[in-house]
Amino acid sequence: MSLQDVQDRIAKAEAAAGRAPGSVRLVAVSKVQPAERVEAVLKAGHRLFGENRVQEAQDRWPPFREQFDGIELVLIGPLQTNKVKPAVELFDGIHSVDRPKLARKLADLAQERGACPELMIQVNTGAEPQKAGILPDEADAFIAEVRSMDLPLTGLMCIPPVEETPSLHFALLAKIAEQNGLAELSMGMSGDFEQAIAFGATQVRVGSAVFGERAYD
Ligand SMILES: *Cc1c(COP(=O)(O)O)cnc(C)c1O
Repeated sequence: MSLQDVQDRIAKAEAAAGRAPGSVRLVAVSKVQPAERVEAVLKAGHRLFGENRVQEAQDRWPPFREQFDGIELVLIGPLQTNKVKPAVELFDGIHSVDRPKLARKLADLAQERGACPELMIQVNTGAEPQKAGILPDEADAFIAEVRSMDLPLTGLMCIPPVEETPSLHFALLAKIAEQNGLAELSMGMSGDFEQAIAFGATQVRVGSAVFGERAYD
């Protein structure tokens, strides 16, 4: 477990970018990690976690929430329309809003429940066909549409293409957010979170650097 190490690196990157200490939040991405590793990070006092699948998060987090106060959970993976209801019940934030149909469903549930998780729109900055997210060209219109539904939209999220320099993608996301007056930027993972901080990330999503490599079986 390298929570402290990642926190130190975030603090250094904030300072190097001339940003206020504590201006970047660490989302510890716990998907697929064994429960002992997650528990160790909880015991070390960390409370903000990211998961990419609704089902997996539903199995894991309710027991931890009984054991530890103040847990905040965000969804960072694609959300199917038929999973929206359990998702809004479980998560405090959803970073992967990427299409009008999903936004409408979230708006209906927000009406019904009188509450909604904080939302971010995922932008497919590399326009990769296999990747979720709204295309950069369509982002302004989609942001306006989500706002017109009275949803609590706070920012934008991206996952840069593996083969490309992430900085260009971080810069593009920051530009779209600025144009639209959105304060939150969810960008940067284990391999590039320091660069993301230099480009204005307010939340970095770090998995393996905190917990160790994921073992898929
Ligand atoms: C898995 C995942 C991460 C964390 O990846 P690491 O490389 O382990 O830090 C971040 N964001 C999303 C959307 C992910 O699915």
